[in-house]
Amino acid sequence: LDWMSDGADAPPPPVDLRPEIPHPARMYDYYLGGKDNFPADREAAEKVLGLSPLVRISALANRAFLQRAVRHLAEQGVRQFLDIGTGIPTAGNTHEVAQRVHPDARVAYLDNDPIVLVHSRALLAGTGHGGVTVLQADLRDPKAILSDPQVRSVLDLDRPVALLLFAILHFIDDADDPYGIVRTLVDALPSGSYLAMSHGTADFSTPDQAAKGPAVYRNATAQLTMRSREQVLRFFDGLELQEPGLVTAPLWRPDQPAQPTDGEVAIWAGVGRKP
Ligand code: SAH
Repeated sequence: LDWMSDGADAPPPPVDLRPEIPHPARMYDYYLGGKDNFPADREAAEKVLGLSPLVRISALANRAFLQRAVRHLAEQGVRQFLDIGTGIPTAGNTHEVAQRVHPDARVAYLDNDPIVLVHSRALLAGTGHGGVTVLQADLRDPKAILSDPQVRSVLDLDRPVALLLFAILHFIDDADDPYGIVRTLVDALPSGSYLAMSHGTADFSTPDQAAKGPAVYRNATAQLTMRSREQVLRFFDGLELQEPGLVTAPLWRPDQPAQPTDGEVAIWAGVGRKP
């Protein structure tokens, strides 16, 4: 059941990219050194980058964590991935990492930003990737995600799934009940499933930096809610946190020599297993 079978030849529907409003997906693309962003995104991103040299280091460390975590999960035998908040494709996307371990690995990519869909479909077109689908969906409606026919056509929710929430939950306000959202998703997955996630934090920031980062995002399409280590740990309630626990992104099963900034990177990272 390939996503290309349902209309990849038809012209894609028109997408309003709203270039004048900063979009977190495009700001993140800019942090990573990508070129899929507009002047408004770059201006906002530069304000955040100006707060600390650790911003860009954190974005890169987050992306590297994603790749190590997906590889690790695939090596644990996971063949299905529900990747919500996919982001604009960049080197080493989830399906590339997973399919290096299991060529038959299946991935559903979900994001609420239409630009992500445009780029992801372009990336997948013509590569003949079966078992990979991309759809527009909002994490704030987890029931819709779980019942989506496109998701169900790629993922068998009766078999273990790795739920990937990398650098997305900090775009979910407390008012939208991020803990309830994660619980709804995890509850729908069988024993042996995993939650892998990363989350921005102000635990290592000055009060000035902690206030200014979210202030920039106030003009963007999604607001930024940094959370403390303790708050991020709560997302793993009921799960078995895998070694080495909840740590800053570069410290999660590193495959590179340690850097002096590893302990202050502003991203908490962890993987939990559903018993
Ligand atoms: N997961 C990738 C990209 C993180 S950037 C990585 O870690 O490298 C965060 C992504 O979350 C953006 O693409 C943004 O569009 C998406 N996002 C933010 N809020 C969302 C929501 N409510 N529903 C779905 N996607 C969302």
